[in-house]
Formats: sequence, C-alpha cells, structure tokens
Amino acid sequence: MDASSIIRKTAIDLRLAPNLADYERERARFFWPVAGRELAGLPGGALNIAWEAVGRHARGPLRDKIAYRFLARDRPVRSLTYEKLAELSSRFCQVLRLLGVKKGERLFILAGRIPELYLAVLGGLQNGTVVSPLFSAFGPEPIATRVNLGEGRVLVTTDALYERKIAKWRDGMPTLKHVLLVAEEEGGRTDVAGTLDLATLMAQAPGECDTAPTAADDMALLHFTSGTTGTPKGAVHVHGAVATHWATGKYALDLHDEDVFWCTADPGWVTGTSYGIVAPLLHGVTSVVDREEFDAERWYGILQDEKVSVWYTAPTAIRMLMKAGADIVKKYAFPGLRFVASVGEPLNPEAVLWGKEVLGLPIHDNWWQTETGGIMIANTPAFDIKPGSMGRPLPGIEAAIVERREGGSVKLVETPGKEGELALKAGWPSMFRGYLNNEERYRKSFSGEWYLTGDLATRDADGYYWFVGRADDVIKSAGHLIGPFEVESALMEHAAVAEAGVIGKPDPVVGEVVKAFVSLKKGFEESEALRMELLGHARKRLGAAVAPKEIAFLPSLPRTRSGKIMRRLLKARELGLPEGDISTLEAGG
Ligand code: AMP
Repeated sequence: MDASSIIRKTAIDLRLAPNLADYERERARFFWPVAGRELAGLPGGALNIAWEAVGRHARGPLRDKIAYRFLARDRPVRSLTYEKLAELSSRFCQVLRLLGVKKGERLFILAGRIPELYLAVLGGLQNGTVVSPLFSAFGPEPIATRVNLGEGRVLVTTDALYERKIAKWRDGMPTLKHVLLVAEEEGGRTDVAGTLDLATLMAQAPGECDTAPTAADDMALLHFTSGTTGTPKGAVHVHGAVATHWATGKYALDLHDEDVFWCTADPGWVTGTSYGIVAPLLHGVTSVVDREEFDAERWYGILQDEKVSVWYTAPTAIRMLMKAGADIVKKYAFPGLRFVASVGEPLNPEAVLWGKEVLGLPIHDNWWQTETGGIMIANTPAFDIKPGSMGRPLPGIEAAIVERREGGSVKLVETPGKEGELALKAGWPSMFRGYLNNEERYRKSFSGEWYLTGDLATRDADGYYWFVGRADDVIKSAGHLIGPFEVESALMEHAAVAEAGVIGKPDPVVGEVVKAFVSLKKGFEESEALRMELLGHARKRLGAAVAPKEIAFLPSLPRTRSGKIMRRLLKARELGLPEGDISTLEAGG
C-alpha cells in the first residue's frame, strides 16, 4: 500500500473525544480484572449479563432513557425505556420460572427482529437459562439440527414461523417441551395446539424478578457456527464475556452516553447479540432496531431520521448501498453520524473510501468471529486507517501470525507481510469455552496458549492486520457463515442426487454465493426442470440464508483417494484457477 492511500485522522474528524486516544499507552496498562471492575456485579461475586445490561440501569439514573426504538414498515415506532425493558424481561424470566425452566437449560428463539426476541434474550439470561437466538431465515433442517444439538427445552417463535418451519418437524425435536408463540402480525393466531401464548403468560407474570446469581464461568449464550465438515458447532459463551462486550463497546465502537446506535446485524448471528443487544445496553445508549430487510432508501432514511450517531454494519450492506448509486443518498443528510464500523467479511478499500465520500466518514473495518465473542482487531476513531486492513488488536488482546507445525505446535511468523494463520492469546473474557459436546474439536482449536482462528492473514510493520482468506472451506455469503457440509447433506436427501460438493463462488456484492455441484444417481437425467427442483428442495429445507443459489451437474465429483470431495478443486475449476496439488485426487476425478 502506498502511503498516500492512508486515511489520516485529524482532530476535526473526531466530533467527540475518543475513548481510545493513546493506543500504546492503553494497551500497556490494560488489564482484564481492572476492566471488570467497571461492571456492577451481584452480591456474592455473581455476574449476570442481563443485570449489567438492563437490570441495574432500570434502578438507576438511566431508568427513563430509551433503550430501544423498534422500527417496522407501516407501524408506529415502539420505544422501550430501560425501566420498561427491565420490566418486560423480568416478566419473561418469570414465565420461564413458572414453566419450571432452570438455570443452564436451553432457550432457543426463532423470530425476526421484534421486541419479544430482545426481551426473551435478556429475560432468559436473567433466569440463568442458556440462550440461543436462531436466524429466522433458516429453514426447518438447520433449525432442528441446532435445537437438537443444544437440547433446546423452550422455543420462542412467531405463529407464522411455527407453521412454516416447526410444526411438521416438532416430533424430531424431542427435548423441546414448551413453544411460546408471539403473533407476527396484529390479530395473528397464537392459540395453536401444543403451544402457549407468550403475551398471555407475560400479562399474568409479575413485572419484578430477581436475577439468577450466575457465576462468571456459567454458560450464558450458545451461538452455532459452521465448519468444513460435520454438524454445526455450538460455541459456548459465559456470563463473564460481558467484560469484553463492555471494553469493545467502549474502544472499538466508541460508545458515548448520548449516542444513538444502530447495529444492523440480526441476533441470529453473534454480532446481533453481542452488539445488537449486550454492548449498547451496557453503555446505556439508545439503540435502533429495524425489523425490515435491506433497502437503500429505507436505510438512509433511518440513518437520517433516527439521528444515528454510531453505525455498525457489514460489507455486503455497504456494497449494496454503493450499488444503489449516489443519487439516492443525495436526498438525505447525516449531520449526527460520527462513527461507522463494519464486520464480518473483507471490506474492500473502495468501500472504506466510499464512506468518506458519501457519508463524510470512512468505514472502520473490524474483525472477530463467533468463537471470540467480541471484537478483537479494529480500526478505532482516533487512528489512521489503511484501507483494506482490519486494524490493530484492541487493548487486552494479543494477536499473532503463526505457522502450524507437525505435532500441533506453532511457530510465530515475525516477518511483516508474511502470510500465516491469525492466532489470539487465550484468556480474554468472551473467549468461547467449548464446542458443545465436542471437547476434541475445541482442544484442536488451541496450540499451547494460542487460539487458532482458521483465518489466514498478514501483519505489517505498523502492527495492522490484513485478511487473506479462510484456511478451510466454509463460505461467507452476505456476512453469514455457511458450512458446505450442511448444504451437501440436504442435497443428498433428494432421490436424484448421488453426490454433492458445495463451494463459495466469489460475488462482487455478497462476497460469495453458495454454488453446488451434483452428480445424479443412475436412472436420472440432468435437465433444467431437475435443476430447478433441486434448488427448490434445498431452499425448502435449508431456508434462503443457507440454500445454494446455483446448481451445476457433473458426471462425477473429484474425490481424494480417501473419498473426500475436493471442494478446493471444484472451486479452482469453476474459477479457471490453477488446480494446485492434486496428488491425492482419485483417478478419473
Ligand atoms: P462468524 O463466526 O460467523 O462471525 O464469522 C467469522 C469469520 O468471518 C472470520 O473467521 C472471518 O473469516 C470472517 N470475518 C469477520 N470479520 C472479518 C473482516 N473484518 N475481514 C475479513 N473477514 C472477516
């Protein structure tokens, strides 16, 4: 990168004194136990995310401050103060107690971004229940897989989602004892056999409820993430993670009391929980939540009308805004917007610069993943941006580039610009504490004191990190991590499919689209009609968020001699790239 493309910050760029003003000094003096003292805690050394996020505010000076403004098309804005949010979360917590749901048991939530989703997360945590929000665009299979892996006992969902994605599959989720229904639209039916009406239960429950005295190491949240093979992995997060949410809300998002914050991520993905729920509430700011899907006009309108000051979004959204063109944005003004950050996929330099041109602010890329529970590497307001770089490790985070060696050890890569695997020194509070029921896979993610992220990156001489790619075959589409195995398995369930291999095909807007290659069983002929049928089959089972957008037929798929489908080779052939090392390719593949 030449020095002229660096975006230099001046005092004028900073409308408020940044929370992280002296990078080296803050990193040198930062110590997690000291940061933890900013948390209120509960008597006897207990720590509960819900108490930190909302319970304590509802009894303090922020009582009457707006915690959330929920937006939805054609509906009035629904605002909840910290006090009201605490009351509703407490009611939900009481509902769980009434149903006999105990500490450590699992609550799943499958809903769009409606208020009930947010108060169920908080009320569940308040009860000491382990909460797992699922993305509402998942189809029945990813939902059932996750509920079963997590041994879900309670599910909160809407009438519409229940009918479309749960009812017929419910027998396949034997641990699920209670389904609590919310009407998706006014007048929706919640008197469905085998379910309970959440609104009725909430109305009958007391609006006060003590907070479960969870320990910092008690499991709080379960976020599923995808790997290359096998079922999704349930990353276990604990109540103590709240210290990272607090520190990163302060340093990476630069939250100040008077901010209006908009995190566009859905709580079905870790960003939407850590930063759509926990971090902004910890800092006592007002958050905007929009129920609708992306729409350029709508989004500019929200930034303007809601007077958003700190915006946390994703590269796909930025690229969609870029694509929508400059004319739309001219109709809007964002005088209050002071900081924009993005996460989840590589943020191309053009997108960083587009922000500067169109919003008057560059986009600040940051990096983290489900397993890290919170932002680890970031571009923060006070510091120069090198467009295309993810930034530098935050205070309390030690990062490195490493090379894996035989026998499981790693060697640090010291040379600036040399590629290796991004590793983090274990021990930050929001580090995942396990993959549910998969101790071996968890252990394999570590080498000594280093957690190995599975991402390839470089570090430059100034300590900035640059994303190179994934070390495995997982796919990032519109910021969502998709496991090829889950897609292949769904395709294989179709009577015509003999084998399936799934790759991420580069796409200028959403990063990658899911593309599947299938070979057919004897007696089936490839045809356009069958291709459409397979696309429909996958979409019905997996949901729009996971299903392939493209399917191609091949006479057979390339496999290694040990029988594994060589996705890497499928991808190279698709893109016309060199095939690389194919020494393990089975003859004829
Ligand atoms: P998830 O666990 O679903 O949040 O996905 C995490 C993965 O997304 C990381 O391991 C990276 O591969 C990718 N990712 C997250 N943030 C960035 C970023 N700023 N630049 C490039 N890739 C990113």
